[in-house]
Amino acid sequence: MLTIGKQILKIGNELPKNVRLVAISKTKPIDMLMEAYEAGQRHFGENKVQEMTQKQEAMPKDIQWHMVGHLQRNKVRQVVPFVYLIHSIDSVRLLQEVDKEAARVSRVVNCLLQVHIAREETKFGFDEAELMSLINSKELSKLPFVNVMGLMGMATFTENQEQIRAEFSGLKVLFDRINATGKIHLTELSMGMSGDYIIGIECGSTLVRIGSSIFGVRNYV
Ligand SMILES: *Cc1c(COP(=O)(O)O)cnc(C)c1O
Repeated sequence: MLTIGKQILKIGNELPKNVRLVAISKTKPIDMLMEAYEAGQRHFGENKVQEMTQKQEAMPKDIQWHMVGHLQRNKVRQVVPFVYLIHSIDSVRLLQEVDKEAARVSRVVNCLLQVHIAREETKFGFDEAELMSLINSKELSKLPFVNVMGLMGMATFTENQEQIRAEFSGLKVLFDRINATGKIHLTELSMGMSGDYIIGIECGSTLVRIGSSIFGVRNYV
């Protein structure tokens, strides 16, 4: 495998101009993240609050931190002061909590709504009906300290490329349908990890979340 810096440049060169690379650095030590930083990487993603907070404190302040893992409401306060984008908003109650904590620190926090698109039971997220009812309700207009920018989805963990494509395409259809309501204007679609980001991009992704292809395999999730 190439070094971390070379991997960052290689993947960066493959991406269309409108697609941003989020380097998913969970479980990896700071010296490895700094290698990515030295290669020009500024968007990093983590899935645990404590780990992200510690890395944020230790690393350069021009890094944009993305929360991509399941977020508990009692941990929202810790990330709201600095997080750049929360990909994993999976309930209205969580969104309300982000708004409340963001108001406390007078900061508007960027969020994506996570949609359950995989066949697996375990993945978090809104289903289509819940999402459309949120969009059609007045709830979002009552939350001035959250900026809902788009949707995030994780495909089923499978070798079946056509299934992954069907799940990502379904999310893009939903994204377009929401924008067609005129109630909100979504610009970001977070789809694609190391194994499926090419398909994600073909289906309209604007943010790819890549970990193991940059930093190597993880021993644990
Ligand atoms: C770990 C993780 C990724 C990156 O996975 P890789 O397969 O290592 O690229 C992307 N998104 C989320 C939500 C993750 O938890």
